[in-house]
Amino acid sequence: MSTRSAIYPGSFDPVTFGHLDVIARAAHIFETVIVAVATGEGKHPLFSLPDRIAMLKESTSDNPAVEVVALSGLLVDFAAERGVFTMIRGLRAVSDFEFEFQMALMNRKLEARLETVFLTPKEDYTYLSSRIVKEVARLGGNVSPFVPEPAARMLRKILKTSCPPPLHDSSA
Ligand code: ADP
Repeated sequence: MSTRSAIYPGSFDPVTFGHLDVIARAAHIFETVIVAVATGEGKHPLFSLPDRIAMLKESTSDNPAVEVVALSGLLVDFAAERGVFTMIRGLRAVSDFEFEFQMALMNRKLEARLETVFLTPKEDYTYLSSRIVKEVARLGGNVSPFVPEPAARMLRKILKTSCPPPLHDSSA
């Protein structure tokens, strides 16, 4: 069982500066941080799994301690497969607490060796979520202050193809 590695699971739809801040903090504590990107079918992600992985890989390429992989199935099965039982989760505010607490306890019920370590991002990122970033992008806002360049680029691309601009009414 490795205590030198930790798994940071999430949807990362898309990765934000909040996630990157948590990854950097985890990499100060652990030798390897395995970012496990959940397929998240139930959540109907905007980005495909390969796209979410590609954005994360590009955004963490400067840190050799970070590994980005796909996560399908139960987190506890993945943990057992890798022999890594330390999970990282981010806590932004009290609003995250209830869900995260429930998840941590459920995971420990499923696998007694599993421990969850909560990390808090820099204050500037506590209001950031993938959901709010997608909302800003959909409404045409600039997302560069919130997400790394690969994610900003992919957001522009996907929203251009999924929401074409309204057609001009030539009779007006
Ligand atoms: P999930 O769908 O599993 O919640 P997310 O990608 O939304 O996946 O989040 C993964 C983890 O990162 C969660 O623990 C979440 O609380 C945390 N997180 C998300 N955004 C931030 C942020 N801005 N700062 C710190 N942690 C964050």
